[in-house]
Amino acid sequence: MLRSTRIVRELLVDNLSTAANAFVILVAAGVGRRLGSEERKAWVEIAGRPLWLHALSRLLLVPEVEGAVIVAHRDDVVRTRERLLAESLPQILVVEGGQERADSVALGVAAVPPGSRWVLVHDAARPFPNPERVSALVRVLGTVPAAILAHRSVNTLKQVSPHGRVVCTVDRETIWQASTPQAAEKFTLLAALARATAQDLRFTDEAALLEWHSVPVQIVEDDPQNVKITTPADLARHQPRSPASAALRIGHGYDIHRLVEGRPLVLGGVQVDSPVGLLGHSDGDALLHAIIEGILGAAGSTDIGEHFSDRDPRWSGADSRHLLAVVLDEIQASGLRPLQVDCTIVAERPRLAGSKSAIKASLMTLLGLPADRVAVKARTNEGLDALGRGEALAVHAVVLLTSERTPE
Ligand code: MG
Repeated sequence: MLRSTRIVRELLVDNLSTAANAFVILVAAGVGRRLGSEERKAWVEIAGRPLWLHALSRLLLVPEVEGAVIVAHRDDVVRTRERLLAESLPQILVVEGGQERADSVALGVAAVPPGSRWVLVHDAARPFPNPERVSALVRVLGTVPAAILAHRSVNTLKQVSPHGRVVCTVDRETIWQASTPQAAEKFTLLAALARATAQDLRFTDEAALLEWHSVPVQIVEDDPQNVKITTPADLARHQPRSPASAALRIGHGYDIHRLVEGRPLVLGGVQVDSPVGLLGHSDGDALLHAIIEGILGAAGSTDIGEHFSDRDPRWSGADSRHLLAVVLDEIQASGLRPLQVDCTIVAERPRLAGSKSAIKASLMTLLGLPADRVAVKARTNEGLDALGRGEALAVHAVVLLTSERTPE
């Protein structure tokens, strides 16, 4: 009894393992140019990789997939093989496609090794199949002769007359949108293709062909991410966001204060040993003021004078580090944070060479930035104008903000 139970279990396991393996036919022979590219559709790139390669990489992650054949356009066969070699995928087969999609699918099926019983036909214009969903699709094979991935209809559906009048509302529970891969028993699919070709019939997908061939087709729910790339907008939506346009914001800040006796010289929150200091409503920290103005500029805000009015008693004698903290809190609320700061201090006196490293360390702490993201340079004005006469100190700052939430 025990022995027979074990044999039955082994037979079941063996049966499951043979049933749940499939060979991929990746149809990439279409010439569609609706994407607004000179390239044939399968070779249009997302993040530097052609659509067909995205699809293939994902399908090869499916445990039940035992191999793949790519059906390429006649003019793409050589470069497809070259790309596969470059990707260390020499075992993937490549065959030349036919005139129509059905011809290409038939040529792909013909290239599948004799030992493979089940095939998965996938459209190269769907670059993001979910391996877990494809695995679920393969696992129903054996209990059904054919199965496809499909999306539930999320919108309310109307049946409409040729004149644009609503005839009725269709129960969306009964409507599914066909996706790929579409799976079938290899010889059943070949027989259906041959019969349709003999009758000069064309179908939009393999499921429609199999239905016509009286083969029951099972639905397996697909992942919403497995979209078809059809228009330039589809393509743009799936391109990685460019950090330069989406995540980075740049601002410029400038400040100048008179140098007078009897005031401390505070730069970047550091008190510098000096016979003269900066005149100002607050502590006169021209460096922090320039940085604050750069931050405000990058955030698309106003200038520091409007932000912290010198008529507002709250800011009289204020520690500029506090003003900086207020501004950093404000931009953080908008999802921004500093990424890099570059400053140039222009002063004839005092000499700042010995103070630059302490000022830089202070800025790193105040801004939460590493050493390679903060620069503090100092120079004279070559004796020219008020700066050159030592009457004032000026600062230029360039600030880069990012909306990236995770630190690089
Ligand atoms: Mg100022």
